Amino acid sequence: MYSSRSASHKYQDSVQTLDMPIRKKIILYLALLLLVLLWFIGVKNRDPHQYDNMRRTLELYEYQLKESKEHMAETMRLLGRRDCVTWDPDLPVIYAITPTYARPVQKAELTRLSHTLMLVQNLHWIVVEDSDHKTALVSSLLTETHLNFTHLYEQTPAEWKHKPKEPNWVKPRGVLQRNKALAWLRANLNAEVDRGVVYFADDDNAYSLQLFNEMRLTREVSVWPVGLVGGLMVEKPEVNLTTGRVVGWNSQWRPERPFPIDMAGFAINLQHLLKRPEVKFLLQVKGGWQESELLTHLTTLDRLEPLADNCTKVYVWHTRTEAPKLNMEDKLKAKGKRSDDGIQV
Ligand code: UDP
Ligand code: MN
Repeated sequence: MYSSRSASHKYQDSVQTLDMPIRKKIILYLALLLLVLLWFIGVKNRDPHQYDNMRRTLELYEYQLKESKEHMAETMRLLGRRDCVTWDPDLPVIYAITPTYARPVQKAELTRLSHTLMLVQNLHWIVVEDSDHKTALVSSLLTETHLNFTHLYEQTPAEWKHKPKEPNWVKPRGVLQRNKALAWLRANLNAEVDRGVVYFADDDNAYSLQLFNEMRLTREVSVWPVGLVGGLMVEKPEVNLTTGRVVGWNSQWRPERPFPIDMAGFAINLQHLLKRPEVKFLLQVKGGWQESELLTHLTTLDRLEPLADNCTKVYVWHTRTEAPKLNMEDKLKAKGKRSDDGIQV
């Protein structure tokens, strides 16, 4: 009984489907057809190349993001480093004057010096090339330091150039270059307003950071010991510990000089210098008398300000870099080749 009833229901259902109005049927078939069509289009467009391209694009984006993240980290690091040596408007500026000339070790010397100076607060580096133009090597090095710098040039005339076999002291070095820097200071700074100290920092010496802290508050002219110069381990002012004044020198070479001191051993207050516009270095000065001659126009023995713990500490060394042997390079050059082709050394 039960089963016959359910069979008759099924029969009626199928009759109802068949009885569907023709319009509804068409819509149903069309909808089915559309679904099949959409499915087919979907399958057909699933091109593996397209996915590959998308993956590659995503990978590229990922790489670019990573790169810019690293770039930002590097910028932050640089900013952070400059934070350590922030510019303090209340602190006198150290004007470090460096004459420099082209030779195989020039980039090494300037790199070493610049990396020291990067650690000094409120420093302005004045680099004067002994050249008739600004060279690409020095220009790019200066740009990369992120230091405050002024780049100048002044060529030493050929007759004043040091010859290879000549003793060191025969002709003065860096004279016109230091004068060029002094002229720049006078043209660009104001003796009434600008506070600072001027220091002659040759490109080949070795400098301790303490030196710069010491010299910054120089009132007129300050002095301190210099290591490895004048034929001695250390050449230094003698200080009377009771009065705290300089009373003499330990120099052995030309001790008759009024100020027997190396270029690296003194600093001059900026205003003190600017108020004496005639003071400069001279080419015609006797060998080794350059510093002494300059200082006689700026100060007297009893006015000197001894630094570095009453001149008992060495914070700068008159190191000199040995000229490298380039005999193999010369051989290469004879064959029209060179090891530094396309690479700056
Ligand atoms: N200098 C220069 N032109 C030269 C020789 C030297 O500009 O023809 C620079 C050099 O780069 C250095 C300074 O002058 O910064 C002193 O030279 P050097 O170190 O050779 O002298 P020394 O060590 O004998 O005092
Ligand atoms: Mn030197």
